[in-house]
Amino acid sequence: MPNLGLRADMINTHTDLYAVLGHPIKHSLSPLMHNTALRALGLNATYLAFDVPPSRLPRLLPALQELGFLGLNLTVPLKEKAFDLLADLDESALQMRSVNTIKFFNGRAVGYSTDGAGFLLALQEEFGITVTGKRVCVLGCGGAGRAVAIACAFESAAKITLVNRSFNRAAKLAEELRQISNTTEIELVPSDPLAWQTAGLQAEIIVQATSIGLHPEDQVFLGAEAFHAGQWFYDLIYHVQETVWMKKAKEGGARAVNGLGMLLHQGAKALEIWTGRLPPLDAMRNVLRQAVYKENTYE
Ligand code: NDP
Repeated sequence: MPNLGLRADMINTHTDLYAVLGHPIKHSLSPLMHNTALRALGLNATYLAFDVPPSRLPRLLPALQELGFLGLNLTVPLKEKAFDLLADLDESALQMRSVNTIKFFNGRAVGYSTDGAGFLLALQEEFGITVTGKRVCVLGCGGAGRAVAIACAFESAAKITLVNRSFNRAAKLAEELRQISNTTEIELVPSDPLAWQTAGLQAEIIVQATSIGLHPEDQVFLGAEAFHAGQWFYDLIYHVQETVWMKKAKEGGARAVNGLGMLLHQGAKALEIWTGRLPPLDAMRNVLRQAVYKENTYE
């Protein structure tokens, strides 16, 4: 862990409080990223982490507001629960039907979602592209894949192809997407590897949002033949610099990056919402890279 230069006299009766809530939470990189950012901005503020099962969220949200916290992040499995609990929702949360950021001010608790913006900003930064007018294939329709697909629909992608092991989950998401955009073509791919390969080949942008690839023994279900030159491949997995998926995509000629940028930008957006300050992106990115890449390899 990098030394954050925390000193006892840095926390006092004026310290602003932020936190991430999730269940489990011990693995979260958010405290490291946000405390680095708060220091870089020279703010008297600190960011904590609490393990909160969904059943305790209804009691804890008002309690943290009452204690004077200025902002919270919510992670798995609390984002949908927070959406249901909050009456005051920003457009971003209404779009995602999920809340990953809460700002407390003037007695209000406003819910936001920065997941979609995090993905779109990462794509822009890494590849210099937007999804508008492009054919996007999303592999995996869990929480993260859903956020990516919804962001693409709101940004008027030309086509969104959904690929998921459980077909029903993809079908449900397809229905949601059809309600969002009537200019985006929505395609559902059957749970069959050959159909997945064709879907990959036909897309301009491929987003990998399954949890396959977190472990070295994981078998990815698309080979190099599912990719070609001129494609952009975004793997949401970020625990290694080059994931197994990225290797396949590059072998096939595509440009490929991992998901660290999305993690960074969803956090940076939250920080901007809370503080109104421009996030110190370089400091945040550097500390994430140090923490993630130094500790984790597939070997
Ligand atoms: P979920 O548990 O909500 O979804 C998991 C997805 O992976 C589902 O689509 C599931 O399919 C699929 N899947 C799991 N195992 C298999 C398998 N053996 N074969 C085929 N498909 C499988 O997880 P999340 O959506 O929250 O996270 C997905 C990935 O995205 C994780 O690796 C996570 O680390 C990463 N992530 C990255 C973020 C970033 O900022 N870069 C942010 C959030 C997540 P099914 O529906 O059939 O179960």
